[in-house]
Amino acid sequence: MTTVAPAQHQHLHQRNQFVELALALVAARGVDDLLAAAPTALATALGNERRYRVIEARDDEDTSAGWPVPLVRDGRRVGTLLVEGESLPDAALLSPVCDLLAAALAARRQVADEQARALKEAAELKFDTVAMLSHEMRTPLASIKGYATALLLPDAAWDDATRTEFLEAIDAESDRLTALIEDILESAAIEAGVVRLELEPVLLPRLAARVIERISIQSSRHRFLVTFPPEFPAVVADAQRIEQVLTNLLDNAVKYSPGGGLVVVRGDVCPGEVVVRVVDQGIGIAPEDVNKLFERFFRVARSRSEGVGGTGLGLPISDAIVRAHGGRIWAESVVGSGTTLAFTLPHPRAGEHV
Ligand code: ADP
Repeated sequence: MTTVAPAQHQHLHQRNQFVELALALVAARGVDDLLAAAPTALATALGNERRYRVIEARDDEDTSAGWPVPLVRDGRRVGTLLVEGESLPDAALLSPVCDLLAAALAARRQVADEQARALKEAAELKFDTVAMLSHEMRTPLASIKGYATALLLPDAAWDDATRTEFLEAIDAESDRLTALIEDILESAAIEAGVVRLELEPVLLPRLAARVIERISIQSSRHRFLVTFPPEFPAVVADAQRIEQVLTNLLDNAVKYSPGGGLVVVRGDVCPGEVVVRVVDQGIGIAPEDVNKLFERFFRVARSRSEGVGGTGLGLPISDAIVRAHGGRIWAESVVGSGTTLAFTLPHPRAGEHV
């Protein structure tokens, strides 16, 4: 007959309790489940004569009902294991459980902190966005209001030329406001994933010439050049949306080269795709900003401070449109010399005969 010495028996009993406890806790799915299961697991494994409560560290925590065992993680108390009973269980059993509970509480707190931070950042971004959009809308509205009020002044006798000038300004500022609202809607639609492409064969040289014709009216300081090789193929694309991309890029080329200069739209045929580049001789973009251009609402600080109107939505919208076609868009720039914004559109047979 095998006899077990009392000390050995105690050791075996403890080991069984520990295994039972570990199994109960390991079965928990996730941190919350583990924290909820811990009191029962402890009572089942260590005997029903005591009750256990896991209390998260709070200012108002009440631990007067039992033995408070601090739950410490990385030197910080994250909670308390409250043991209600005559005495505490063996420290050798309790201590690994406390470590586990402390780790679980710390993990839960970290997730909660991160969620709170993300919510705060989202709220700040929303506020910044609304503030920026309100500012952008207020500027043309203030002009419209100013000219309209001037025209309505009962005592003012405006001559025809001045009246026309004021009405033209109202007309231009209204267009600006409409474009801004369209950009905001478009951006929201892209974000919500409700943009559908209407594909058809598109002749990019013709489309580029049309956009240039429209944009060149806005600036007498710029010269425009469209250059496409004769074998440039038709691409299958949504003509209206690609026109929007070219309009955004050409608008920017003009806006960000206040001193004027040459603006070139160049097409190239490469294996499997076509590349369109819009090249300007403007202010350029610093290397640290180039990769941020396609983030929503990003504007280079200098563009803001120099009062050039914009929302920081044109390039993200263009990026989404180009990507929806299976293409890429990128910028290359040298501060003070100019910027090239380029995009590709796939063309399965492009470049075959080049
Ligand atoms: P915005 O409405 O401000 O022009 P975009 O999304 O079109 O918005 O462009 C984002 C920012 O990128 C602009 O505010 C400007 O700082 C910079 N940018 C875009 N195109 C050019 C360019 N051709 N030359 C210099 N900076 C540019």
